[in-house]
Amino acid sequence: MPRSTVSNTLSNALFKGVILLVVTVPLLATLLAIRLLWLRAVHPTDLVLLAVMYAFIAFGVTVGYHRMLTHRSFRPHPAVKLVLLILGSMAFEGPALEWAATHTKHHAQSDREGDPHSPVEGFFHAHIGWIFRDSTADPKVYARHLMSDKIVMFVSRTFLLWALLSLAIPFAVGGLLGGWPGALTGLLWGGLVRMFLTHHVTWSVNSVCHTFGRRMFETVDRSRNEWVVGLLAFGEGWHNNHHAFPRSAFHGLRWWQFDFSGYLIWALERLGLVTDVYRIPPALLARQAAKAKSLAVPATADAAEEVA
Ligand SMILES: [Zn+2]
Ligand SMILES: [Zn+2]
Repeated sequence: MPRSTVSNTLSNALFKGVILLVVTVPLLATLLAIRLLWLRAVHPTDLVLLAVMYAFIAFGVTVGYHRMLTHRSFRPHPAVKLVLLILGSMAFEGPALEWAATHTKHHAQSDREGDPHSPVEGFFHAHIGWIFRDSTADPKVYARHLMSDKIVMFVSRTFLLWALLSLAIPFAVGGLLGGWPGALTGLLWGGLVRMFLTHHVTWSVNSVCHTFGRRMFETVDRSRNEWVVGLLAFGEGWHNNHHAFPRSAFHGLRWWQFDFSGYLIWALERLGLVTDVYRIPPALLARQAAKAKSLAVPATADAAEEVA
């Protein structure tokens, strides 16, 4: 066997081993946490740590990685950009640059050949199987413009530091409040259970929201609006809306489509921390809705122009 083949095989095995750890350790930790909950052996501090860590890091993914970085839905102040990308890195979903490239490829090939995580290849593949395939997209092809962005490159290169910090923070806070037992349960709830939830909620956008739910717009993919994911993923579950209008900073398009990420972008805009927030022109929205009703013409032709 040639040496390069051996080293490729080894690095491939190492890659799969790391992914397996990142998937199974939070799963086992969550099972332990459920057992502790059942035994009523959980301190309120642990649940507060879980909620706060989840909220900040989920916004890092939805507002930072997704709407800001991948879709350029708004222009952030550099400090806001740095903070959002660091928070996104803390989700253990890969460096910002690779995440944006993979997601751009998903939009480019949605539910067709080349889509990194389409349920066309099976629900399990779309949810979790795809990450074992090393199917991340090449940033040189799908995110070239980001490679000259100093903030994006800095946070991407230091990804591991921020990811590990997301475990160190709840460990340290738990320790300050409750000594060694507090540190360990802080790590369990604010670190590992939080990682489990963030992962599966993000992955549900790829699997559940391309399989279950309703479609408000005719798009060439299988994207759907699923309210449960909409709530848990802070608005990202209105995924059919998102595929119809990828650049929109707001995924919830009706008052009852709760979109916490959209509300945060709105608040940041009011505070002057982000500008150029992209809103769907009302005429385009009305046109797409009318097209969807008639079902005569796929609604993606105009929407495609909206992609960054
Ligand atoms: Zn999608
Ligand atoms: Zn997207």
